[in-house]
Amino acid sequence: MSYLVLARKWRPNAFANVVGQEHVLKALINGLDQDRLHHAFLFSGTRGVGKTTLARIFAKSLNCEQGVSSTPCGECQSCQEVDAGRFVDLIEVDAASRTKVDDTRELLDNVQYAPSRGRYKVYLIDEVHMLSTSSFNALLKTLEEPPPHVKFLFATTDPQKLPVTILSRCLQFNLRRLDISQISGHLTNILQSEKIGFETDALDTIAKAADGSMRDALSLLDQAISHGSGTVKSTEIHDMLGTVSQQQLYDLIQALISQDGQALMQRSHELSVQGRDFVQVLNDLLALFQRIATLQLVSDLDMAESDDVDMLTTFSQQLSSELTQLFYQIALHGKRDLPYAADPKSGFEMTLLRMMHFQPVIADTSANMPAATPQVQSTPIETTAAKAKKQVKPSPAKSVPSESVIKPAKPTPPPPIEAVAPEPVDVADNSASASLNGENWLSLINSLKLTALARQLADNSAFLRFDNDKVTLSIAPELAHLASKKPQERLEASLTKSIGQPITITFVDSPTDQAGSSTLAAERAEQVVADQERATESIHNDPAVDAIKAAFDARVIESTIKPIK
Ligand SMILES: [Zn+2]
Repeated sequence: MSYLVLARKWRPNAFANVVGQEHVLKALINGLDQDRLHHAFLFSGTRGVGKTTLARIFAKSLNCEQGVSSTPCGECQSCQEVDAGRFVDLIEVDAASRTKVDDTRELLDNVQYAPSRGRYKVYLIDEVHMLSTSSFNALLKTLEEPPPHVKFLFATTDPQKLPVTILSRCLQFNLRRLDISQISGHLTNILQSEKIGFETDALDTIAKAADGSMRDALSLLDQAISHGSGTVKSTEIHDMLGTVSQQQLYDLIQALISQDGQALMQRSHELSVQGRDFVQVLNDLLALFQRIATLQLVSDLDMAESDDVDMLTTFSQQLSSELTQLFYQIALHGKRDLPYAADPKSGFEMTLLRMMHFQPVIADTSANMPAATPQVQSTPIETTAAKAKKQVKPSPAKSVPSESVIKPAKPTPPPPIEAVAPEPVDVADNSASASLNGENWLSLINSLKLTALARQLADNSAFLRFDNDKVTLSIAPELAHLASKKPQERLEASLTKSIGQPITITFVDSPTDQAGSSTLAAERAEQVVADQERATESIHNDPAVDAIKAAFDARVIESTIKPIK
């Protein structure tokens, strides 16, 4: 196998072979073919996207012995010299190493002389923004009155640093980063021509790692070929780059969705054994959560660059949008906090456990519940994880949408009212229990089946006396209107049935300092206050809530705490 560096061997030698940058190509090709060329071009863009390559083809096009055209012959001496990188009239300058005004002067002094071999001198000044102010001034004079035999190609990664006077005299093009499919497509062509086997995943991974730069992609491919045994394999690329395969990331997300703590820790262990960079793993997870969230919003999103849309679509249906957002936030904070963890692995696992802790309640698959949603459990994390193993039973989803508004799912349930009072009286039970007293009054009326008005009356009445068949009740003066005839008759009938003997009721205004007797309404009001206090306390003592507060710098909005019935 030949080890000629691929980037050199496969450098495009004609505009037709250049990958991407169609907008720039079009301008250059049209200019060349119509012989109307600007004298200065500015290419802005990141490294390795083809600036030098374009400059060389451009120089060839201008100097080909067959004539100026966008399709130089590639055969003549000029073309071959350009291809070999030794054409005297293509002058490549790295401004980063030539910032002094004298250097620029020397360079520009030569501009006026005619080209020694070709028709045009082509100056490629890379990192042109690095020139000093006086160098720019010297350059500006040349640009104002350019000799007809000179073309300038400026390249920069930072066009903002160029003086406006220079910018205004250039035709500007932004060279785009190459996208993953452009890069992997090019790598595919190369490997097929070189008759080297490969896995498509592997090329995608290289393309992703190259971050828009074809040169970087080719040099990674070179490394991969020399690493591998004649085939470019995905696992070898991941080993080489220290990156994580998509499948490993999917496995992590799947374990989170199925609440499989054991699988989650197993995956983390594998990543650690493989020596993966956990910051990178979190970055990859962030990217996936972002795409899942996008799919949840726009389900038919065109994700041309990915062949994993099916998997992500499945996740986007299994996860609620709230949980996806939460996972994203947790991953983001996990990444931020990773340097503070005892070691990267434990920091990473804590991040996973935090996600796990906000376990989705598994939606009942038979119902039309589209997604699992987070639920803050006031149970410690161990319990949650243990529960996860044996699959939590389906329960209606309660969402906790944001980090600051937290509702307790399960505060310690308040003792039911019946429990404080003696045995509830069964309405149907007519076995005479003649005793009616302040002790059992509340539970008795609570058990009665009453119409709405009679219920109002009963709930707001306090027991005073039971004496022969007469019950004396008190009612607050402002509620005395409740004791009208019909509701009173209903209440009497219901009590009669319940006690098993005829009952008549007498109402009196409630004494101002009523001691020892209460109304069901008052009891309930107290209960509401007590429930609220208990819920508030449970939220403030919940380690999960503490964890959220610490992780997100969140606070609990008291008014949003609600007891769960
Ligand atoms: Zn030629």
